[in-house]
Amino acid sequence: MFASEAWSPASWKTKSIAQDVGYPDPTHLSKVLSKIEKLPPLVTPSEIERLRYQLSAVQRNEAFLLHAGDCAESFDACTHENISAKIGLILSFSLILIWGARLPVVRIGRIAGQYAKPRSSPTEKIGGREVLSFRGDNVNGLDVNDRTPDPERLLSAYFHSATTINYVRGLLTSGFASLHHPRDWSLSHVRSPSLRKEFETIVDGLSDALDFSRTIGAESGAAAAPFERGGGRDTVGEVDFYTSHEGLMLEYEQALTRAFPLPGAGVSPSAPDPIAPQSSKNAPKKGFYNTSAHFLWIGDRTRQLTGAHVEYFRGIRNPIGVKVGPSMEGEELVRLLDVVNPDKEPGRVTLITRYGAGKIDNHLAAHIKAVQASGHGVVWVCDPMHGNTQTSTSGLKTRHFGTIISELTSCLRIHAECNSRLGGVSLEFTGELNEEGFSVTECVGGSMELGEEELPMRYQSFCDPRLNFEQSLDVAFMISNHYKK
Ligand code: PEP
Ligand code: MN
Repeated sequence: MFASEAWSPASWKTKSIAQDVGYPDPTHLSKVLSKIEKLPPLVTPSEIERLRYQLSAVQRNEAFLLHAGDCAESFDACTHENISAKIGLILSFSLILIWGARLPVVRIGRIAGQYAKPRSSPTEKIGGREVLSFRGDNVNGLDVNDRTPDPERLLSAYFHSATTINYVRGLLTSGFASLHHPRDWSLSHVRSPSLRKEFETIVDGLSDALDFSRTIGAESGAAAAPFERGGGRDTVGEVDFYTSHEGLMLEYEQALTRAFPLPGAGVSPSAPDPIAPQSSKNAPKKGFYNTSAHFLWIGDRTRQLTGAHVEYFRGIRNPIGVKVGPSMEGEELVRLLDVVNPDKEPGRVTLITRYGAGKIDNHLAAHIKAVQASGHGVVWVCDPMHGNTQTSTSGLKTRHFGTIISELTSCLRIHAECNSRLGGVSLEFTGELNEEGFSVTECVGGSMELGEEELPMRYQSFCDPRLNFEQSLDVAFMISNHYKK
């Protein structure tokens, strides 16, 4: 595949499609897709451009990227409690980083569209029966009797994404993110006294700083990103927040890919969206924006150089992520970058490495060196979750906190040794609580010392195990302390 080959939102169809979903009724699928094609964008080109700009700041070491959320969202978990718990955790985590590292944090949630899952096998055996694997709520149902792919689920995914993003936007513009109220972000549920104390020290320090600023009349967007082009936000309550998901279901992604004028020289990405179709001969050049999310990533199972996913991703204007696992060769990685970012544009590509604590030493340095030698600039992000999944004695999928920290620590060290810098983290975490206010029990360890025998108590994930509220704050303090030094 060459960057000079013609691209269109549908050109991926000529390539081989990994993880393809076989719909039994293609006519039904076409009908649903033509409905989605007419629905409005979920995110706007100016927001996408602003994120590209902010990721270029991460690439220049002027900001840190937090990419986090569920492994997979479900339609049933789309409730106001779950959404605010997720946003509350992302805000708490980023506050710890901002305070310790003194760097702005770019926040991208795995939210408002993270429904589809790649699977290692198309079928699985349940209760002696061979059934189609569960592929995520936008494809089929978790219930063994509901495994036939149903296109109506794509439409339902669109509306669940829309309602989630609507609520997130509402929360963030009505004071939920206010730095005057960080205790509202669920801290009451942190049981570990030392963790609570550490967080409260930050909050007290912040209150003092805000009081001082108010006294001298200098209060402005402390929570906002001061590196933003077009100016920062002017209230302490509003923060930038972006959505993301794995771009797996290409039919859906294509249906939400729309052409809009590209920002011209001197056009601020925070200017009003150029929604009106341009008909004049002098119309600005257009770009194709995937309007289903601000940021999309290619999974480790669908990143084949000549495959459909890479073909689709190379043509969209959004900033993209690429998962990089132990099977990636250095030369292959550079060829992939040549395809998805031929003009070497800053902020365009984020490499999300996920080798496993035991394998990172064998792969990361070679990948960093290959990318450095190629002249490509990227954002390097550590995903310390996906190479460290294991099965517990009770049969539940889990991850050990110590192993997660081990991969993260090695990652920080190797970047420093290679004269590179880790730009962010990608985590699977949740601030979700049960009715009694207890966090989930899916990962072992952390300051709460969760034991393997406690996993079945509140194991909620139907996909990969997530860090809970306390375990996530532990990770935030570890990173924040690292950058403080
Ligand atoms: C994921 O991020 O949930 C995932 C499936 O990751 P990977 O593609 O790295 O295995
Ligand atoms: Mn996962």
